[in-house]
Amino acid sequence: MALVPDANTPIVNDDSPRDIQRTLEHLGAGLKKRWGQNFLIDRNARRRIVETLGLEAIQSEGPLWEIGPGLGAMTALLLERSNRQVVVFELDYAFVRFLRERFGNSERLTVVAGDVCDTFPPLSAQHAPVAVLGNLPYSSAGRIIGALLSLGVPCERMVFTTQRELTERLVAAPNTPAYSAFTVMCQLRADIRRVRDFPGGCFYPAPRVSSSVVKLQPRYNTRPITSVAVLQELLQGAFAARRKTLRNSLGATRFATVLGRSRLEELLRAAGGAPERRPQELSPEVYRLLANKLAELFAGRR
Ligand code: SAM
Repeated sequence: MALVPDANTPIVNDDSPRDIQRTLEHLGAGLKKRWGQNFLIDRNARRRIVETLGLEAIQSEGPLWEIGPGLGAMTALLLERSNRQVVVFELDYAFVRFLRERFGNSERLTVVAGDVCDTFPPLSAQHAPVAVLGNLPYSSAGRIIGALLSLGVPCERMVFTTQRELTERLVAAPNTPAYSAFTVMCQLRADIRRVRDFPGGCFYPAPRVSSSVVKLQPRYNTRPITSVAVLQELLQGAFAARRKTLRNSLGATRFATVLGRSRLEELLRAAGGAPERRPQELSPEVYRLLANKLAELFAGRR
C-alpha cells in the first residue's frame, strides 16, 4: 500500500531504500542502530509473514498487535488483510508522527508511543490481542518476547522475525549449546516453531546476520506455572554456571539456604531431575515441576 501523499509527506514505496531515506530526511530522523531499525523491503517476505499468522482461522474477537511498525509497511498489509483493529507499538517518536500522518484516516489503527515493554501491560489487561506480529529490533527482541510470555498475554498466536541466533535459542533442545534459561521459560509458555529464514538482503540496511520467522502458540493453561517469579529465580540459579552440577549451582540459591541442600535435592529428584546433572540437561517440564513445588513452599515469603 503506497502512502497517501499530502502537502508535506513524501510518497513511500515500502521496498525502495531511496524512498525510505527520503522519508527519514523529511522526518529529520536518522536510522537508529540501537533500536534495530532495519526495514523489511521485500513485499513477498511481508506477505509470507502475515500469512503465517493465519488470520482467517482466528475466530475470537480482538485486535491485532504489531510491535515495532517502523514506517508502517507491515501495518499497511495488516489493515488490508483484516477488518480488525490494529494496535502498533513504536518507540521512535519520529516514526509515531509519521504513522499518524500515513494512516491518519484509518479508524482501525491505534499508534502507541514508547517502549512496548512499558506500554503493552495495561493494554493487555483491558483489551487482549488475538495475535501479535513484529519484525523485532535485534537488540531487544529477547526482552520483548520474554515480557509478553512472562506476563501471559492471552493471544492465539505470535509471529516474530528475529535474528537467527535468537531463534536458535527459542527452539533449542536440551543438551545443545543454545539451550538456556530463556529457552526454558519460553518453551514452557508457548509451542515454538521456526517457519523460515530470510537473508540479510531482504532488509534495509542489510544486517550482517540472517533472520528467521518464528511462530509461537501460547499454552498458558496446559502447563501452568504457579509463580513466574519463582521459576525465573530457579532458572537464574541453575544456569548461573553451565559447567557446574545442579548440586553446586542450586546449592547457592535462596531455596537451598531456606530448605537445606538435601531437601532441595530431594525435590529436584521428585521432579525428574538429578543433582549430578548440569542445567542444560534438564527438560523444561522438570524445571516447571520443581518451580511449582518451590512456589508452593515459598508462598508468602520474599
Ligand atoms: N516493521 C518495520 C519493518 O518490518 O520494516 C520496522 C522493523 S525494525 C526491525 C524495528 C522497529 O522497532 C523500529 O521501528 C524501532 O524503532 C522499533 N523499536 C525498537 N525498540 C522498540 C521498543 N522497545 N518498543 C517499541 N518499538 C521498538
